[in-house]
Amino acid sequence: MPVKEKEILHTYFGYETFRPGQQETIDHILQFNNTLAVMPTGGGKSLCYQIPGMTLDGTAIIISPLISLMKDQVDALQSLGISATYINSSLTPGEQQTRLQDLAAERYKFVYVAPERFESFSFINVIKNIPIALVAFDEAHCISQWGHDFRPSYRSIVPNLKKIPNIPVFIALTATATEEVITDIQGLLHIENDHVVHTGFERGNLSFHMVKGKDKATYVRSFLDEHQDESGIIYTATRKQADALYDQLTKRGVAVAKYHAGLSEHERKQAQAAFIHDEITVMIATNAFGMGIDKSNVRFVIHYAMPMNIESYYQEAGRAGRDGEPSDCILLFSPQDIQLQKFLIEQSLMDDTAKQKEYRKLQAMINYCHTHGCLTTSILDYFNNTDTEDTCGRCSNCLHRQEKTDITEEAQMILSCVKRMGERFGVGMTAKVLKGSKDKKIKDFRLDKISTYGILSAYTEKELTEWIHFLIAEQLLATEEGKFPTLKLNQNAVDVLKGKRPVWIYTAPIPTSEDADYY
Ligand code: ADP
Repeated sequence: MPVKEKEILHTYFGYETFRPGQQETIDHILQFNNTLAVMPTGGGKSLCYQIPGMTLDGTAIIISPLISLMKDQVDALQSLGISATYINSSLTPGEQQTRLQDLAAERYKFVYVAPERFESFSFINVIKNIPIALVAFDEAHCISQWGHDFRPSYRSIVPNLKKIPNIPVFIALTATATEEVITDIQGLLHIENDHVVHTGFERGNLSFHMVKGKDKATYVRSFLDEHQDESGIIYTATRKQADALYDQLTKRGVAVAKYHAGLSEHERKQAQAAFIHDEITVMIATNAFGMGIDKSNVRFVIHYAMPMNIESYYQEAGRAGRDGEPSDCILLFSPQDIQLQKFLIEQSLMDDTAKQKEYRKLQAMINYCHTHGCLTTSILDYFNNTDTEDTCGRCSNCLHRQEKTDITEEAQMILSCVKRMGERFGVGMTAKVLKGSKDKKIKDFRLDKISTYGILSAYTEKELTEWIHFLIAEQLLATEEGKFPTLKLNQNAVDVLKGKRPVWIYTAPIPTSEDADYY
């Protein structure tokens, strides 16, 4: 490690060694190679541009969509004796002007700006005329139209930046990017494969849990009882859900804060400040809360309903445990969550192609909720993170893996029912036929006349629905994506039907000390 980098790491930041990927990223930048760093939340991405920013001549410009975080970052740098500032819309025009003049006078080593700043002629004019150390794109996934959090303003600055001749090197940083997004970022910022530093996404201190078939409000209440004084976030799918849960808990005397886009800016700021300063430990929020929240001691993130895709889920759940301490990410799933997410997609202003893409991502999320495999691996696989273990040993599925039940026969019945229904129906109708439901639609389609009608009537429709979703999640049955996805047999299904492939499910959890009644 070149002496200067190490010296800066020690003297300014007080750390002994680099974390995985940091040194490699810094080295690429110091050799003026455009670089993409994909590291998990809490992995130490800031140092990857801060150390080169201090080493190279000129000012480092950091573009971030998170106005609320800029001040914290700037304060942190200033407290280390490093000259830094931010220029964004939270400042008065007079303050913006003064900082711009200081920037022109080369008084700053680091300047944080929002993407919109590149629409300002005076800003562009200033940075064209001063030495620039580097330009960093924080939250770089926002640049990609394939990302879940695409910001057009982020992308539109790229052509403008290319016209600024004195930018020696770009660095893009993100904690959440699929292969598609990574390729997109590489193309936009001309980053070669050799200069993509990917440390993987795994967060070894996070334990993922799937909770089904429980009354959600009751679960949350008893969870909070057992985790008093711990900081946590409860994400709901809608504002209405957030309001309802907030009312229920406050009525019972549980101190919680609330944050969603329907509240005034003042209310949101107050709630956020109370949470950040640990005055209120639990925040109930929609996904409007979080981007820009840098709270290190969040011990749990509960999703009160299934979110719309795995990218959002991992990013939101990943707000737990930024300090590296063990933390829990719990998803409370109910079948209605699927309908709600489909409704939200239908209600959105997206065109049909974009909706289709959202349905595809939603299906991956549904599969996550129904897999019996390792939850951590399932998420990492989604991001094509191939070098992971098959089992994390921490998630609820790994912990409950002891008891296996052979459901090959039931699976064969389900699959042959799908076949006999002409592969023209979805999960709900198939479950009804297997149950032998008297639903009018079943009669209308004459599905009560097929031989598999009522063949699994010993089970509830809910159980049958769960099994069908399980077969999809394990790729033993195919589904089309869309508003009304139909079920189709795939090669794995044919193998199951021919008896070439057994089907197992993991059933009862291992009793824990809390389940003392078992004995
Ligand atoms: P990210 O942006 O990747 O989520 P941060 O840059 O905010 O992560 O870093 C997370 C925490 O880890 C910060 O408190 C930071 O000071 C600390 N950190 C970063 N690099 C190191 C290192 N090499 N050794 C120890 N701690 C580090």
